[in-house]
Amino acid sequence: MEKGILLIMDGLGDLPDRKGETPLSAAKTPNMDKMAKEGILGMLSPIGKGNVPGSDTSHLTLLGYPYWDFYCGRGPLEALGSGIKLKEGDIAFRANFATVKDGKIVDRRAGRIDTADAHKLAKLLKKVKIVGVEIIFVNTVEHRGVLILRGKELEAHVSGTDPHALERVPQSKALKKGSEKTARVLNEFTKKAMDILGKARENSKRELPANAVLCRGAGTYRKVEPFAKRFGITGACIAGGALYKGVAEYIGMDVLYVKEATGTKDTNLKAKAKHAVAALKNHDFVFVHVKAPDSCAHDKDFECKKKVIERVDKELIPALVKTGANIVITGDHSTPCSIGEHTGHEVPLLCWGEGFRVDFCKRFNEVACMYGGLGHVDGWDLFPILVNAMERGKKVGT
Ligand SMILES: [Zn+2]
Repeated sequence: MEKGILLIMDGLGDLPDRKGETPLSAAKTPNMDKMAKEGILGMLSPIGKGNVPGSDTSHLTLLGYPYWDFYCGRGPLEALGSGIKLKEGDIAFRANFATVKDGKIVDRRAGRIDTADAHKLAKLLKKVKIVGVEIIFVNTVEHRGVLILRGKELEAHVSGTDPHALERVPQSKALKKGSEKTARVLNEFTKKAMDILGKARENSKRELPANAVLCRGAGTYRKVEPFAKRFGITGACIAGGALYKGVAEYIGMDVLYVKEATGTKDTNLKAKAKHAVAALKNHDFVFVHVKAPDSCAHDKDFECKKKVIERVDKELIPALVKTGANIVITGDHSTPCSIGEHTGHEVPLLCWGEGFRVDFCKRFNEVACMYGGLGHVDGWDLFPILVNAMERGKKVGT
C-alpha cells in the first residue's frame, strides 16, 4: 500500500512585492522545484474561494473534516493539543493570565509571565469552586492556559472575557438561549480567580502581577468519527503548536510529542524529518506542520519567511522524498508579508509521488501553481485527492 505525507507550511501563500517576487518565488528551493518537475501543481482554497481561513478551520478541512460539520471552536482544540483529556460536552476556553489595575486590563499577558510562575498561580486556582460545575484550569506555556467547565446544561454560545484591548474586563454574555449558565459560571470564575490571584504571595514581587484570567474561544467538545475509520488509514501528527496537535487529537490521529518541535522560528526541522520518517514505518499517513512561515509573515518579515522556506527545502524535504511516499506540500492559508494577516488568496499546492500525474510545471511558487494540472482545488477535496493517490479511495456505487 502506498503511503502519504501532508506537509503544511503555515501561511505559505503570499503576494508579489515591488519586484514581483514572493518569499516562495525568491527562495532557493532546488528540492521542491525538482518535485514540481516530477509532480503536479495547483492552487488551493482551504475553506473555499476567497474565504479567509483561520488555522483551525483550515487544518480540519485539509485533513478531511470539513469545518462546517466539524469545527468545535478553538478552546477544545487548544485543550486537546495541550495534552488535556476532554469529556463529551465539556466547554473549553483559551485563557490568558493578565494584569488588571482598577478594573482595567493593563497587560493582556501579565508581562509574559514565565511558565514556572504561571504554574504556581494555576495551582491556587484549584480553590475556585462553583456549585454544580467542575472547574479545571491548566496553564500551558507562559501566560497561556485553558479553562474547562464540566457539568450539566452548559452550552458554548457565550462571549469571552478577553476584549483584546486595554479596557475593562467585560462580562460574559449568552449569545444564544441555553448558554446563560455558562456565561454566569464564567463570570463567577473570573471574579473568584481575581480574588485569589490578587492576594497571591507569588504576585507580590511582580511588577505586572498575573492577577486575572481572561477567556476566549469557547467551544463544546464532541467526539467525531475517528480518522482510521473515516479513511481506512492510520495517521500520525508531528507539530509544535498546541492547535495543530489538538486538531490531530480531535480527529483521532496519533500525536507524536517531538521535544525538538517547538512551533517557533528556530524549530528543529531535521528532528521533525527524522520523526516523520520513523512514524511512516508504522502509519499509513503522516501530517507534518511547520509554523514558522506564518510567524515571519505576521511580523511582515519577507526575508525571514524566505529563509525559513529555504530551510524547509534543505532540512526537511530530502528525508521525506526518500521515503517514496506520496507527498502533498501546501499551506493552510496565505499570510502576505505586506499585510501581516491571513487572507483569502489561494495557496500554492504541490503533489508528488507515484499516485499523481505529472504536468509541465518546473518550479514551486504562486505563479507556476496557476499553470498546474490540478487547477483550482477546494480544501475539502485535498484529502480525498491524497487518499486516492495512496490507492485507498472508496468507490462510490458499484
Ligand atoms: Zn495558519
